[in-house]
Amino acid sequence: MRSDEIRARLRELQAMDLPAHGGRTLAYVYDSGLAEADALGLEALAMFSGSNGLDPTAFPSLLAMENDLVSMAGALIDAPAGFVGSVTSGGTESVLLAVLAAREGAGAAPGEASMVLPSTVHAAFHKAAHYFGVETIVVDVDPATFRADPVAMAAAVRDDTVLVVGSAPSYAQGVIDPIPELAAIAAERGLRCHVDACIGGWVLPWLETPIPWTFTVPGVTSISVDLHKYAYAPKGVSLLLHRDPALRRGHFFASADWPGYTMLNSTMQSTKSGGPLAAAWAVTRAIGVEGYAELSRSARDATLAIARGADGIPGLRVVVEPDSTLLALATDGSCDVFTIADEMLARGWYVQPQMAYRGTPATVHLTLSAATAPSVPEFLSALAESVAAARASGPIEVDPGLAAAAAALDPATLSDSDFDGLLALAGLAGGDGALALPERMAPVNALLDVAPAALREALLLAVLDRLSRPSR
Ligand SMILES: *Cc1c(COP(=O)(O)O)cnc(C)c1O
Repeated sequence: MRSDEIRARLRELQAMDLPAHGGRTLAYVYDSGLAEADALGLEALAMFSGSNGLDPTAFPSLLAMENDLVSMAGALIDAPAGFVGSVTSGGTESVLLAVLAAREGAGAAPGEASMVLPSTVHAAFHKAAHYFGVETIVVDVDPATFRADPVAMAAAVRDDTVLVVGSAPSYAQGVIDPIPELAAIAAERGLRCHVDACIGGWVLPWLETPIPWTFTVPGVTSISVDLHKYAYAPKGVSLLLHRDPALRRGHFFASADWPGYTMLNSTMQSTKSGGPLAAAWAVTRAIGVEGYAELSRSARDATLAIARGADGIPGLRVVVEPDSTLLALATDGSCDVFTIADEMLARGWYVQPQMAYRGTPATVHLTLSAATAPSVPEFLSALAESVAAARASGPIEVDPGLAAAAAALDPATLSDSDFDGLLALAGLAGGDGALALPERMAPVNALLDVAPAALREALLLAVLDRLSRPSR
């Protein structure tokens, strides 16, 4: 293909996607609205895309930029003298490494450790449990505030527990857990306490928060902060900070047990592009502490304005007062959130449906970034129209027989052809028998919403498997 054809095709492919810029995609992407900061980030991403973080002595620039980023974060989240940190590829990797370091630090083998998690914790902790053989002890949050329940968390700690976790804030409801109480529970028992500030860590430092969550809280041992979220850096970069170097030791890895170079890794990757790290370095310098203060304020103001506006829309309510820049909206039963999400998409706005979980109803999730602030009135009128349309069509009723059948299925016993049949039943089959996603996702989402979590996981994995098949 000629260069101009490749460029044209890339643009064509990208037109299939949700827009990453413009402030109308309210999950997955973060937009500062600052063209110059974006441009600098992209230049740095390209400049260092071939550099390899595998060996910091060969690429000392990467080490220098990593230390700069860790220092900046440390200042923002009150890290004490002697703190350390590592740059990772994303929030999930930061969480994985926090869990691994806790298990290693306790000298526990896979299958011999547990961690106590509020039910609102990010799914990355379940992934860590799966990867590293750390059992999850999931404790329901307070049903009124959606914050972790410290009394229940304390009661859940076992002899093999190595870690207590809290979020600042939680993704699904956007509230900060009672970090001081959780950290005290951990400290009294000599355990670690990780604060998952993946999404809040680069926005909360500029806002007033009802609960302290940084290293000022005694007993907090590590904090994760994503740079590819509210630091507005291109994707692929996060930070994991530890109160002291000994706490980090457990996620370092070395192997001299082969004939090549001694492999020495601070994180999960070995060959590691310098691009995302350099991009984050450039963007954080371009925006600066003052710039982030302004961006955080405008994202927060947009959040509060949308919360007020949404509460005034008949049929809709804000689930809980937001502590940060995330919102969860629920309906009163006169319509369903899945139809609202489809209606919003038809009006050019992406909002993210969240399924019901442990007594929490299905909701619509909004992640507000600075670039959305100027279009809050436009967003609210689209939302009012969407809710009105969803009320006019009424809530999707899942056939009770189908729901009962779904509840009775054991996903472990289902074969590939069973899954083909179920996916067709769910409306996901195209004419040729191949998988096809419908224009409107609400009927599928409503069905998935009533499916038990294990079945939902298995069905969606079957979808993913069928979507990711090459053609030749
Ligand atoms: C986004 C997020 C993560 C995971 O981060 P990824 O960058 O998507 O891997 C973990 N915890 C919270 C609270 C998050 O919002």
